[in-house]
Parts: sequence; C-alpha cells; structure tokens
Amino acid sequence: MKRTEIKTLLQENAVGVEVNVRGWVRTKRASKNVAFVALNDGSTIHNIQIVLDVNVFDKNDLAKITTGAAISVDGEVVASQGSVQSIEINAKRLEILGEANPDEYPLQPKKHSLEFLREIAHLRFRSSTFGAITRIRHSMIFAVHQYFTMHGFFNIHTPIITGSDAEGAGEMFHVSTLDPNHLPKTETGEIDYSKDFFGKETNLTVSGQLEVETAMAGMSKVYTFGPTFRAENSNTSRHLAEFWMIEPEVAFNDLIDNMDLAEDFLKYLIQYALDHNSDDLQFLSNRLQEEEKGKPEDQRSMELIEKLKFVLENEFARVTYTEAIEILKNSKPNKKKKFQYLIEEWGADLQSEHERFLVEKHFQKPVILIDYPASIKAFYMKQSEDGKTVRAMDVLFPQIGEIIGGSQREENYQKLKRRITELGIPEKEMWWYLDTRKFGTVVHSGFGLGFERLMLFVTGMGNIRDVIPFPRTPQNAEF
Ligand code: ATP
Ligand code: MN
Repeated sequence: MKRTEIKTLLQENAVGVEVNVRGWVRTKRASKNVAFVALNDGSTIHNIQIVLDVNVFDKNDLAKITTGAAISVDGEVVASQGSVQSIEINAKRLEILGEANPDEYPLQPKKHSLEFLREIAHLRFRSSTFGAITRIRHSMIFAVHQYFTMHGFFNIHTPIITGSDAEGAGEMFHVSTLDPNHLPKTETGEIDYSKDFFGKETNLTVSGQLEVETAMAGMSKVYTFGPTFRAENSNTSRHLAEFWMIEPEVAFNDLIDNMDLAEDFLKYLIQYALDHNSDDLQFLSNRLQEEEKGKPEDQRSMELIEKLKFVLENEFARVTYTEAIEILKNSKPNKKKKFQYLIEEWGADLQSEHERFLVEKHFQKPVILIDYPASIKAFYMKQSEDGKTVRAMDVLFPQIGEIIGGSQREENYQKLKRRITELGIPEKEMWWYLDTRKFGTVVHSGFGLGFERLMLFVTGMGNIRDVIPFPRTPQNAEF
C-alpha cells in the first residue's frame, strides 16, 4: 500500500479508509489487551496514535516497538476515543522496519535538555522541538525566495571561496592545498601562495556582498542566499562560525528605500511563519512558557505568537546613531554602570547590551539605527556630507540585537578609492569592485540578514546552535 504522510492523514480526517503509515515510534503504552503507539514521520508536530490488539500481533514484533524504532503499519482510520487527535489507526498489519535497542537509544519519551540534544545532533531531528524548528527553517528558506521572486529579484550564487580578504566583516578561514608541514617559501621567507591551488591566497567568504554588487550593476535587483564563514572566536549564543546570510542589493535604492525593503521583507517572513507554521509555533510557544514558569512575572518574555504579531503591527523606530548615543549616555544602566561597556562618547561601537536596551527598554519595538561613524563601519558605505558618518543601517530586534546590517553604498569612484587607500586595502585586489563605480555607476543599497538570527527570533529559541542542523562553533565540528 502507498504510504500516507501523517500530516495529510490528520488534515483529511477520513474515517473508514485503509492506509499505510510509516515513521518512528515516540511512545508506547500497553495494557492487557491493547497497545497504543504514538508515531511521528516528521511531516507534522503531531503524532498519529496506532492501536494494536496485543492478542493479534506477534509478541516478538510487539516487543520491538520501542521508542526510536521505525515501523510500518497498515490499518483503518477510526474516530479516536481518547487521544488528543480526532482520529487514530486500528492496526491490521505491522512491520518492524528498524529496531532501536532501548539500552542504547539515547532519546527517551521525556523532555531532554537542548544541550543534550546538541550532543546527539544526528538524532535530534526526531525530537519534537527540533522537528518544529526544522519545518519552520524550511518554510523561511522558501519564503525568502518567494519574496524576492515576487518582487522581481534575481538570485545570484556568489562564490564560497574568495580571493579577497577585504570583505571587511571578520576573521577568515584560509583555504589551501599546501602541505602545512612543508610550506613553499619566497626568497624573503614568506609563504609562496603562487604555489597554492589558486595561485594566490584564498579564504572562505564572510559575505557575498562585493560580488552581488557587480550583479546589481546590470540586473538591478539581486540577492544572494548562501553560507558564510567567520573565524571569530566569540562563543556567544548569537554567533556561528558557519551561518547562512541573505543579501539583497538594489540599484537606484537609497538608504530610505533600503530601510523600507528590510522592514517589509522581515514582516513578510514573520507573517509567512504565522500563516504556514502555526502548529509548530504553538508548540514552541508552549515549550517556552513551560520553561518560564519558574521566573517572576516581570522577567518573563512576551508569548511567542504575540511577540511575532507585535512586530508586524508596529512600525520600526528609525533613529540616528547620534540620537542613540544620547539616549544610551543618559540611560539608567549607563549611569549606574550596569552596562559591561559604558557609553562615554560619540564614536563608541554599540554592543549587544546597548542594542537590546534601545529595543527592549527604550523604544519597545524593533529599531533601525542609521548614520554610524565611518570609523566603525566598512569601507564601502556611502559617505555623508558631514564627513564623519556613513549611511549605514542596523536593524535591531528584541532578544537578538542586530539581525540585519546594511547600508547605502559609496557609488562615487574617487571617494571610494580614497577610502580604500586610507584603510590600507590593497587596490590591486579591488580593481573589479572599483570598476563598478568607474563604468555606469549608480546609487545602490543592500543589506545582510543573518538567517539563523531570523530563526532565533521566529522560533523564540535562545541559542543559535539550536536553529541550524549542524552548528559550527569554536572547538566544535562534530557530525
Ligand atoms: P555582530 O555585531 O552581531 O557580530 P556583524 O556586525 O559582524 O554582527 P554583519 O557583518 O553586518 O554582522 O553581518 C550581517 C548579519 O549577519 C548580521 O546582522 C547578523 O544577522 C549576521 N551575522 C553576523 N555574524 C554572524 C555570526 N557569526 N553568526 C550568525 N550570524 C551572524
Ligand atoms: Mn560580527
């Protein structure tokens, strides 16, 4: 018989039909005459209950139905008497597809800690929590491509191996086929990269922006959505060494258009999750509320679905860096020296504690901070008339801090070249990038949305390691 997915089965709710279901056993409860099995196949957060008459089936087979085992069941869909679902399956035929020895199988039908699940990342797809996250992650990937397709963007695959180390977004991982024990040296004693695979020094990309900008100058509206790598040794709950980034780049857009795009895009994604992942969001919401029960009322966070709707209903605050510094300087945690990094003067880089203060305490909604000091931002950002700031924008979200970093780009050839020289970036590496300003230059803007930061927000999870299937972090590349 052809397999029916559990999601389809629960949607169709067709009592009386014969079906085949396959999946992994979550729990089994047995009484004298019947056994109840909760089966899940990943298609939905919900399990289907299988009812087996213990006098009909082989004792050995029944014993093999343990948590984690894979089984196939033929049976009749009947109205459920007890379970939370309205239907269940009366089993007629049972096949054990793959046993899971209970003495060895690490997942039990109880709640496991997220830390423990990370240690068994190869099995955590079978947990309710990670199943829900995986479905939402897929949904968000799809919605990203749908949004851009609807709005006339073209997807560009930018390179993962880059020959430039001037992407300006963090420490890079080297890519080389040289034998580290026998490195070829130049006459002056440096490593001779002309002998390396690409004949030059190469790295894993930290951003697809520079390349996607060249596609913009011809295609007008483009985006890249790919893996990026940063060898930053920051073991935080918001940083990965390998993460996915969405980077749109739009010709003829200035900073205001860029902010409009970022806000509309984020709201679209959040609305999409609410429309398509309500069961999974409800599950995650319940889980979070369970976790927060112990906390005093004023320390509990907003309920997940309420929080998502709250972002949709409110316009993001748009604030200059200079205004933000004034707010932070005069804030309670700054005056009482509660911030780890105190804000003393204009020019200070903002830490996540400051970003979260602005969003959660001061404005109480998402904030777009613009017009940062040039000294703390990348070389390619549009220089303002004041000579001090650049047309940068960071979108700050509750619980996360920075979710998007972007800017209007410097389209003036002379100004861009001057900045590159000032910062000591080798111009010979930048020739192709500078060419976009030399030939048919246009005003343009773009940004980078960290996909896992978006996932943190949408799922309400607290640690970025729990929203990507196989996290890469310092000292950790298992699986
Ligand atoms: P942060 O200050 O939080 O480290 P950043 O300023 O280095 O971020 P950008 O270079 O502007 O970030 O990158 C664009 C986006 O990519 C960020 O807004 C964030 O959403 C995401 N991002 C940056 N670094 C990481 C990381 N190590 N892991 C996951 N996401 C990241
Ligand atoms: Mn960073």
